[in-house]
Amino acid sequence: MAVQQNKVSKSRRNNRRAHDSLVAANPNECSNCGELKRPHHVCASCGHYDDKEIVAQVDEIDLDEDAA
Ligand SMILES: [Zn+2]
Repeated sequence: MAVQQNKVSKSRRNNRRAHDSLVAANPNECSNCGELKRPHHVCASCGHYDDKEIVAQVDEIDLDEDAA
């Protein structure tokens, strides 16, 4: 196991951690459905990107369809 040679002072430790904070996501509105989406990503709710449908959406899946 590696053992540190010198004690890291509170000041040095805290200065290192000064850049560790997380940045909040910056969602913007989908131009197709208006839902909030991540920038530069396909919309999760309608599957559109740049006003084009990229991922086809299925309205409803009936799992009991072939059970009979
Ligand atoms: Zn959308």
